[in-house]
Amino acid sequence: MKDKYISTKLFINGYWVDSVKEETIEIHNPATEDYIGTVSHARKEDLDLALNSAQKGFLTWKNFSALERSKIMRKAADILKSRTKDIAKLMTIESGKPIADAEIELGMGIDQIEWFAEEGRRAYGRIIPSRLKAVNQFVFKEPVGVVAAFTPWNWPVQQTARKIAPALASGCSIIVKGPEETPTSTAEFVKAFDEAGIPKGTLNLVFGIPSEISEYLIPHPIVKKVTFTGSTQVGKQLMSLAGRYMKKVTMELGGHSPAIICEDANIETAANILVGTKFRNAGQICISPSRFLVHKKVYEKFLNLFVANVRSIKVGNGLEDDIKMGPLIHEKRLQTIEKLVKDAVDRGANIVTGGKRIGNKGYFFEPTVLTEVSKDSKLMNEEPFGPLAPISSFDHLDDALDEANRLEYGLAAYVYTNNLKLAQELASNIESGQISINHHGLGLVENPFGGVKGSGLGSEMGAEGIEPYLNVKFISQVGL
Ligand code: NAD
Repeated sequence: MKDKYISTKLFINGYWVDSVKEETIEIHNPATEDYIGTVSHARKEDLDLALNSAQKGFLTWKNFSALERSKIMRKAADILKSRTKDIAKLMTIESGKPIADAEIELGMGIDQIEWFAEEGRRAYGRIIPSRLKAVNQFVFKEPVGVVAAFTPWNWPVQQTARKIAPALASGCSIIVKGPEETPTSTAEFVKAFDEAGIPKGTLNLVFGIPSEISEYLIPHPIVKKVTFTGSTQVGKQLMSLAGRYMKKVTMELGGHSPAIICEDANIETAANILVGTKFRNAGQICISPSRFLVHKKVYEKFLNLFVANVRSIKVGNGLEDDIKMGPLIHEKRLQTIEKLVKDAVDRGANIVTGGKRIGNKGYFFEPTVLTEVSKDSKLMNEEPFGPLAPISSFDHLDDALDEANRLEYGLAAYVYTNNLKLAQELASNIESGQISINHHGLGLVENPFGGVKGSGLGSEMGAEGIEPYLNVKFISQVGL
């Protein structure tokens, strides 16, 4: 296993290079706040190199057959499998997540590559019966071209895989603007494709100031598609910029997911699963449940079970044994969480457990449960993206439904009930791109993942996930 953290360079035209001006950004371990290394900082001159490289890469890669592309992708997946432990350790050092979670994340990234390697081979066109005997009508699917992808720190590998896998499978080339907080695990992921034999220029990785890079890449004529995972606020900015230049977009944005626990639900199951889902990655997950709505008849029971479970979560450095929750990613996130708690308490909330920072080194925050949180508190309106669980009760299901649909978010929702009719009713009336009933069943590569309303546009993964990387070309031809 690698013991040392590795500083990261840019990957442009098949080479790991320093930026032209040799600028770097410092990386810190969020569990210790220690300086651990650097990542190269791209400016416009580096982006120009990446753009030209990606354009050249596209002209080569699009002419590979789907089977040839699939073979290279599968080889990259095999390389990653053999390095899972090493890469997971690097990911834990830079992101803080428990090492077991980092290994699971690697597995999910590999799953994406293998699944899309095959999906690329099934990117079928079709033949449409024509009105005239002499005419043949064909629909072809062609790769859109150079993709600009912006990926976040909370899943340094898995989110990057969600962009790289469909892009490469469909014959596109790609420039990834990776996460500056967690660059090394993302770079190790990219390295596997290089070693698997991907043509130079097909896959490029840059880091820098996010807004500077998006403002340069999105309008650039070489870029034909934009894909972003991050907050709704930034997503709206990038989408309006892309709209000005008529670029295709996929937006996977923020959420504030309701979890509705009905009176007839299995309360033990609901409490166990929801604690796991809520505090995974310290709550820094877009589909993390963040508004718990519990029928008043089972409220006390659910709250007691939930809180007991939360109190057993072991928080610490993700490299240590049995740690279930690591630190937040950076100081800014810690401050945001502290402000959300203070605002909720100022408006009358009760902290049942947790509520404050742990120690003064590392960005650790206690797994926190709050009750009586006022609807106008920031916690009930802004995506918390942290280890906070506000739990409230409802009398009538209509009230829970109104609350679930109250916000502009619509990424994920959770329902616990043993009443089939109720389950169907809630599933059809909750405004959300994904709904999981009586278990946590979201995020597998064969299923579409995406939000409605302010939570985004388009789906990643599933059969839907490759379409945004393909143009439709219709050809009508009179035979000879
Ligand atoms: P942030 O808004 O500063 O950054 C979030 C992400 O967007 C980062 O990866 C960042 O590099 C990127 N980004 C920011 N401005 C950008 C720009 N102008 N162009 C291109 N990329 C840009 O916030 P943060 O404190 O780092 O993260 C917390 C917030 O980010 C949360 O509120 C959450 O909504 C969002 N987020 C969402 C996801 C997700 O999976 N949907 C992942 C990470 C972060």
